[in-house]
Amino acid sequence: MDGAEAAAPAAEEKAGEEEEDDLGYRLFPDRNKKPQSFLVRSLFTFHNKCQLMLRMTLDTNPYAQLLLEAMKQSGCTVFNDRHFSCENCDGCVSGGFDSATSQIVLCQNNIRQQSHMNRVVTHELIHAFDHCRAHVDWFKNVKHLACSEIRAANLSGDCTLMNEIARFKFGLKGHHQTCVRDRAIRSILAVRKVSKETAEKAVDEVFDACFNDLEPFGRIPHSKTDAKRAYRDFQNRDRYNANL
Ligand SMILES: [Zn+2]
Repeated sequence: MDGAEAAAPAAEEKAGEEEEDDLGYRLFPDRNKKPQSFLVRSLFTFHNKCQLMLRMTLDTNPYAQLLLEAMKQSGCTVFNDRHFSCENCDGCVSGGFDSATSQIVLCQNNIRQQSHMNRVVTHELIHAFDHCRAHVDWFKNVKHLACSEIRAANLSGDCTLMNEIARFKFGLKGHHQTCVRDRAIRSILAVRKVSKETAEKAVDEVFDACFNDLEPFGRIPHSKTDAKRAYRDFQNRDRYNANL
């Protein structure tokens, strides 16, 4: 894949230092490999389990269902076989969005639980949604990447569990915002060779606008119940528009 148009795997964990900015591809060693034969893949249990969990997420998780519906309406229908790929990844990365192929990479060696799969698929679908609706310059404009990472951390439930623990333990106000900011910065540092200061500056500059952009949820879904409501509202919003 060539440099400028190559993927923006929006990985969620930090990776080691390297000389050149390879746009995060070092975290996804399977990206350049030929697809394995059906037989080889069938024998690999991680791969099977990943695909089963993915299927479960797409069929039953309201966050994912809302995003899939929203993508469809924006003219970017997502197909399971074409747009998702279960692969082995380096380090503790759990997923990424490859904008060159519009594929979501799911790290089969790092996603062990259904709840984790739900969160990763949702997070990456938010990047895919942003990619579909806007001309996101993933590589040259770090603010664009920052904005999508803020939205993904805010709307995917990445910060929900921590939020609950913090509220219970410390009663911290504004912890959700702090969590979203930290996660967005970490995600940028995982896939771009930029300084911590650059990442922080980019996130802070776009924070308010992107944190308040709740599309397509219309709210911050703090739980599956919230997400179900958001999904219902989204469907009704569409019905209403169709009647106009
Ligand atoms: Zn991300």
